Amino acid sequence: MSDIALLPQVEAFLARHHALFIDGRYVQSQGAQTLDVVNPATGQVISQVSEASPGDIDAAVESARRGFKQWSAAAPAVRGHVLLKLADLLERHREELAQIETCQSGKIIQISRAFEVDQAAHFLRYYAGWATKISGQTITPSLPSFAGERYTAFTLREPVGVVVGIVPWNFSTMIAIWKLASALVTGCSIIIKPSEFTPLTILRIAELAMDAGLPPGALNVLTGGGQVGKGLIEHPGTNKVSFTGSVPTGLAVGQSAMGAGLTRATLELGGKNAAGFLPDVAADVAVNGIIEAGFLHSGQICAAAERFFVHRSQLEPIMDKLAQRLSKLNIGSPLDEATEFGPVTNRQHQRKLGEFFAKARAQDNTIIHGGKLIDGPGCYVEPTIILANSRNDTLLHEETFGPIATFLPYDSEEELLELMNDTPFGLSASLWTNDLGKALRMVPAIEAGTVWVNMHTLLDPAVPFGGSKSSGMGREFGSAFIDDYTELKSVMIRY
Ligand code: NDP
Repeated sequence: MSDIALLPQVEAFLARHHALFIDGRYVQSQGAQTLDVVNPATGQVISQVSEASPGDIDAAVESARRGFKQWSAAAPAVRGHVLLKLADLLERHREELAQIETCQSGKIIQISRAFEVDQAAHFLRYYAGWATKISGQTITPSLPSFAGERYTAFTLREPVGVVVGIVPWNFSTMIAIWKLASALVTGCSIIIKPSEFTPLTILRIAELAMDAGLPPGALNVLTGGGQVGKGLIEHPGTNKVSFTGSVPTGLAVGQSAMGAGLTRATLELGGKNAAGFLPDVAADVAVNGIIEAGFLHSGQICAAAERFFVHRSQLEPIMDKLAQRLSKLNIGSPLDEATEFGPVTNRQHQRKLGEFFAKARAQDNTIIHGGKLIDGPGCYVEPTIILANSRNDTLLHEETFGPIATFLPYDSEEELLELMNDTPFGLSASLWTNDLGKALRMVPAIEAGTVWVNMHTLLDPAVPFGGSKSSGMGREFGSAFIDDYTELKSVMIRY
């Protein structure tokens, strides 16, 4: 097999020098700095974007404030309709968007199509449905009445204002869609700051959002590095930050937000997620589960599992079968439809994964499979299985965010639960067993925002998602997002 041909419109899009998306159109940056966008599969520079300057941040916030005024006054049904139209446009431009995404992130083309476009459209439609269903409550206060007066009260859900959406590089389209859909459906405006590694797809989506009927200023995209995000959060004209990214950056973002006068903050951070397999699960089923949990998109998924706990009696057969499966994976170009395993998204991340292999070796962990970077111009890393020596080993505690599954055997269910919870993080976890009753009894003891049983990694817009412990603050999806994107106003009336 070979690479699919890039569509002419993708070639043309990549060849542009990308300006900033402010007030419904491209605006040249007031500064002169640019950033190269590198295809991690080839190491080639494929495009350039602007690095937003402080003046651009002011311009984007002014635009978003004007956008907020207009958009928050739009009827809920109009908001829902615009999001539905944008979902249709994503699907109409499916191949174009998927190709841009694969070129900038190295994500294999099937994942770009299925998740970055199809799932993103599915999420948009889900959020669109909320537009006409956000409501307050009617309350009867219990104040004493001295002269026959009575009271009534109700609550209003009002959009929080201008939202700053800060997006990581792993699912740069889908995560941006989660943020813009939550903001727009509640009547907020939003400024998206994509990762400097993957800034392109969201610029194209911003153009499509204008075609869908979004007013200028309701969605702005400012490209650039971390200081652009910081500048936006600390700007007096922004009201909320919705951040997805690493724990250290998340802490810095939280501090910036608090320091900027209690700017509201939702933090979706990383983790060190566990998958626990009870001994009644057949080895082949366990291996399928481990691949789903740990190796999709080369493990670059915040909810992916990195710690695998297997009953001692099953450790060898599971690791043998897993090694056989990984050795047969078709590693190659993400634009080749036959590829099953592509590069990681940037050189910096590839090097970091190399350092994890060195740490594992330094602690005498056994590398059962993989354990090396793959030489060449692309940022490839071998899918890897590591057997730790003890529960204190680094690979069981630090997030790798890569295709590295670290194993430790356990002997009893109590020990399994203790190992699964032995982390300051709590984004997700999975439990694998044929005994559903046992699973349901164990679930409450697992410290994580999402616990899957006999599945891992799959997210649904109707099911709230977010971290417990040090993995974040706030929830996305379901009705849970409404609390974070609206202010609750209470109105009391005496009559
Ligand atoms: P980072 O935390 O490095 O960056 C996330 C975003 O924050 C990027 O757009 C980055 O810009 C920006 N940024 C950096 N510094 C600041 C700052 N001081 N103020 C405001 N914004 C800033 O994460 P990665 O992009 O490396 O993504 C990987 C991480 O994201 C992993 O830890 C993973 O677990 C986590 N993640 C969590 C998810 C969740 O839902 N819980 C989902 C997906 C990923 P730039 O890149 O330009 O520096």
